Amino acid sequence: MAEKFSAFLRRTAFSAEWTCALCGREIFGGGHFCKTCAAELPYNGGAVCLHCGRQVKESAPVCPACENRLPDLDAGRSPFVYRGGVAELIRKFKYGGARWLAEVFAPYLAETWEKSGFRADVALWVPMTAKEQKKRGFNQSELLAGEFSLLTGIPALGLLEKKRETARQAGLGGEARRKNTEGAFRTAEKGGAAGKTLLVLDDVTTTGATLQAAANALKRGGAERVYALTIASVPWESFPREGSGETEKERESADS
Ligand SMILES: [Zn+2]
Ligand SMILES: [Zn+2]
Repeated sequence: MAEKFSAFLRRTAFSAEWTCALCGREIFGGGHFCKTCAAELPYNGGAVCLHCGRQVKESAPVCPACENRLPDLDAGRSPFVYRGGVAELIRKFKYGGARWLAEVFAPYLAETWEKSGFRADVALWVPMTAKEQKKRGFNQSELLAGEFSLLTGIPALGLLEKKRETARQAGLGGEARRKNTEGAFRTAEKGGAAGKTLLVLDDVTTTGATLQAAANALKRGGAERVYALTIASVPWESFPREGSGETEKERESADS
């Protein structure tokens, strides 16, 4: 009950319209971040992989994470690099039950999508199994697709289903992530994806394994093109290497 009430308060009295999503300071003049926090947001930019959209050290058409991988994904983009305040908010969104953050992230997703020059007939989300969704209480990817749809007018549809449960990606290297998600999805309705250009919304691009598995199911279902849009992508320098001995903190942070 107390928890429900505090969630209610956050939505109303302390809604994101009034206080900074990061530091909680009062905001005047709209937006979701105070001036200080807004200036420190880790925007994606500089040299980025033209395929998956992650930040790289030097300009190259395709980053090492994409070489010979992610074949079914036509392109991915993210407004942010997965670090700092944005990484903190994404963890709060996924594991802290802060559903309202979908509204905070959506304008950044919509802006990045607009700038990308790509187009899509349908926006969709990465599905969870019923058991996984029951455990979390919601699907963060679905919330993002819904808010994104409200801003862009691109309809959000549940075109995918998850066939089986997958282990949590955090702490797994690139190859293990690929094996964990490979073949995990299928189209929810026969012909639903056929001939369409689709956009998959998700929270983080780590190795891209989840997005590749989703794109693969959509392409098998006849999709013409599949793009991905995530809040943040892990830069190449933080890419989870096989047996890299990542710290616990890094494992916690890089989940998708
Ligand atoms: Zn702030
Ligand atoms: Zn890449």
